[in-house]
Amino acid sequence: MSLLAVKQLTKSYQAGKTAVNNLSFELKKGECLGIVGESGCGKSTLARCLLRIEPIDSGSIYFKNEAIEQLNEHQLHPYRKNIQIVLQNPAAALNPKLKIKDSLIDPYAQYSRKLNLSHFSYSSRDAFVKQLLEAVELPSGIANQYPHELSGGQRQRVTIARAISIEPELIVLDEPTASLDVISQGAVLTLLTELRETLNLSYLFISHDLAAVSQMSQRIMVMKEGKIVDQFIRDHLFGEERHPYTKELISIF
Ligand code: ADP
Ligand code: MG
Repeated sequence: MSLLAVKQLTKSYQAGKTAVNNLSFELKKGECLGIVGESGCGKSTLARCLLRIEPIDSGSIYFKNEAIEQLNEHQLHPYRKNIQIVLQNPAAALNPKLKIKDSLIDPYAQYSRKLNLSHFSYSSRDAFVKQLLEAVELPSGIANQYPHELSGGQRQRVTIARAISIEPELIVLDEPTASLDVISQGAVLTLLTELRETLNLSYLFISHDLAAVSQMSQRIMVMKEGKIVDQFIRDHLFGEERHPYTKELISIF
């Protein structure tokens, strides 16, 4: 089943400079679809358009066959619960004044009246926080700490816990490990893979790092100057038929 379908999506910030240029693709339920491309090619713009954070110029976005590009905030409510985003910089994503437990509970508190959660069953707020921290392999003591007391890798685990807390179907991961050291990068990628399997999640995994994209994704799209120039299943990454630009990315990774 197609979970997300994008048709001829275009977005410019200024006339003559198109950040996302007539882009089309489909993401199937349960898969991790990778997007790789150099800095500035339009990856984050695409992510923000899909989340309806950024208005689009033209094209369509279907979530489970429903066109969502024209929906108003009220109509978007169920969609906002079902698609979450994890960004590059977890420090900016967490409110520095809130204890981790309060940041963790925030999306749930926002959506709780409408949610019917099944992955996480819990008897109290504290139990919910504990379960979320366990899911991302963090010690429960972190609940009472503040973001600045955590390492970058721990902070990113908190933002991942927050993203999964309301049981979305799709998570857009926009350079989720780019701000982390190599060891934490590997650990967070492993955690993301495990979560996708246990929680039956789908990912759009966005990165400039071809090694990370090919580790995570069953299918890979290569983006250049706002367009998809190549797409293939991971096993075909080193195929002769690859686009010259893909080969260029391979040669530097
Ligand atoms: P990536 O995430 O692949 O690095 P971006 O989507 O951030 O690429 O940027 C794509 C292009 O759009 C770049 O040329 C960038 O300068 C431009 N751009 C991104 N965000 C804005 C913005 N808010 N206003 C104007 N131009 C922007
Ligand atoms: Mg970006």
